[in-house]
Amino acid sequence: MTFSETGLNKNIQKAITDLGFETPTPIQQESIPYLLENETDLIALAQTGTGKTAAFGLPVLHKIEVERKLPQAIILCPTRELCLQIAKDMESFAKYTKGLKITAVYGGASIMPQIKSLKSGTQIVVGTPGRVIDLINRKSLRLQDIEFVVLDEADEMLNMGFKEDLDTILAETPAEKQTLLFSATMPKEVMRISKNYMHNPKTIEVASRNEGAKNVEHHYYMVNARDRYKALRRICDVNPDIYGIVFCRTRRETAEIADKLMQDGYNADAIHGELSQAQRDHVMGRFRKRKLQILVATDVAARGIDINELTHVINYNLPDDNEVYVHRSGRTGRAGNKGTSIIIAHSREGRKLKSIEKMIKRELTLMKVPNGDEICQIQLMKLIDKVVSTDVNHQIDKYIPSIEEKLAHLDKEELIKHFVSAEFNRFLSFYKNAPDLNVTGSKGNDRNDRGDRKGKRGDRGERTGHAEAGHTRFFINLGREKDMQAHNLIGLINECTRNRNIPVGKIDIMRKFSFFEVPKDFETDILSGMVDSNWNGNRVNVEVSQAPGVKSPRGGGNRGGGGGRSYGGGDRKRSNSGGGGRDRSGGGRSSGGSSSRRESSTSSRRSSGNSSSFKGRFNAAAKRKRRD
Ligand code: AMP
Repeated sequence: MTFSETGLNKNIQKAITDLGFETPTPIQQESIPYLLENETDLIALAQTGTGKTAAFGLPVLHKIEVERKLPQAIILCPTRELCLQIAKDMESFAKYTKGLKITAVYGGASIMPQIKSLKSGTQIVVGTPGRVIDLINRKSLRLQDIEFVVLDEADEMLNMGFKEDLDTILAETPAEKQTLLFSATMPKEVMRISKNYMHNPKTIEVASRNEGAKNVEHHYYMVNARDRYKALRRICDVNPDIYGIVFCRTRRETAEIADKLMQDGYNADAIHGELSQAQRDHVMGRFRKRKLQILVATDVAARGIDINELTHVINYNLPDDNEVYVHRSGRTGRAGNKGTSIIIAHSREGRKLKSIEKMIKRELTLMKVPNGDEICQIQLMKLIDKVVSTDVNHQIDKYIPSIEEKLAHLDKEELIKHFVSAEFNRFLSFYKNAPDLNVTGSKGNDRNDRGDRKGKRGDRGERTGHAEAGHTRFFINLGREKDMQAHNLIGLINECTRNRNIPVGKIDIMRKFSFFEVPKDFETDILSGMVDSNWNGNRVNVEVSQAPGVKSPRGGGNRGGGGGRSYGGGDRKRSNSGGGGRDRSGGGRSSGGSSSRRESSTSSRRSSGNSSSFKGRFNAAAKRKRRD
């Protein structure tokens, strides 16, 4: 079937030709002719990447009466990013449809321009539920004339707690309308919505919704749980051109992994629900423009990311629901590109791997975590390729005679060795004697956890080691249990030391306490600045750690005092729970305390040299203990 056979009007056809769409995708082949000919409701099981926006967007656009300057279609979706994406897609479909207006309404942005746009006679509204309700309550948005309701990513809207909001909005719409529900999965709650609000809906499902994209390879690495991060680093190191998403399960883990990657000099950042809208936009903007190679994300935050060129999706931790794995992996291998979905699994996840294989009807391929030699070879060749492809800048010509004189005693081979070593020695020493991270364990079979338990002991031992040369290792009485994360700790250090930009080295966040290292010169700054300060309502106790023994977590109160300085932490809970728009997709929820700490941690990170090149990476990493 071609687009010209679908029955869409000429203006729409012209616009999609401009977009380079040649043939309708399977979901479009089913939905477009059906929606053009029928007025009954429709349920479509489709994931992002299947062309679902055009599947509902084109027929809705075709049916809009442009002369009627009032909202005739409302498209509801879970996040601001998706909302903007849909509105952008609809704008391009409507490029030649004169007089048609589309308005995107979402939280975390000023409401006034949205009200203005609605008043100007818009026919299609794309919105997130919270903001739509705000606008209804302000009487700026009237749904009495709605003829089409689209619920996009219905499952995700319900996951995000928009159930009541959806009920409220749907109750505002007229009984006579066409409701289109698009969802990747069909959990009970989505069934309920369809039962309550839809009439004899036709269901379409393209291919098998769980199989995932065909041009995605599925790989897994088997390591001890404690080695996940090390394995992630190696995976990134053997894929120097990676452009991908690392999926974590929680916001905390997302922030922690992104922090570690940044501290280790990778071109990475995080996106999760705790960031303010402005921060999320900033990160997303950089990722879209490929200024950022690695995005560490939660599933919800990654919704609406519509990038066709991702090379990798990495499951740092597997989701509970296998369908979520299918979603994640479907973010790569799009638009004819090849992609790789990677699972960093541990030895007790064998059964889980088997169940994923069953769902995707494909085999997961066991890959070996590369060893130091393999990584060095790949990185070295990348360096050499870069040297070869670098354009020579002839401004240097005038220096050549004196350079030649200085290098005269070296023959070609020695010269190469010197140049490569100057760039590469840190990398080589990082991976020198790097241990094998692979563990045995097979799909369908969960190894008992002896390895891991043993691992944990080893982990502890590692964490109690001596500080890096020239560094002092400090004990601090705050750990994971108190919500302390690496970025919080860097922020706290920054603030307590009046932003002297102390280059923070290795950080180990434990359950009840943590360790961090800074160059010896800053020892007194740390002690005088941090002792008796306050974080998140906890008095801070910092002491020089007596390696190799673990500093016992005696809790606060060493040097009397109390009532020390507070660095915004105490406010965090308050501002998180109060205020803010009701729209989970929007910002306005970010707390002053946490975001200011985040900003300061970012600047501290950057001050310690964040660069995508391995040289930059190792300039940063040189400041901390290197052990892999
Ligand atoms: P969606 O599932 O709506 O997020 O669409 C995924 C991607 O496929 C977007 O980049 C669309 O622009 C693109 N797309 C949608 N329909 C077609 C088509 N028929 N031919 C080529 N690309 C398409």
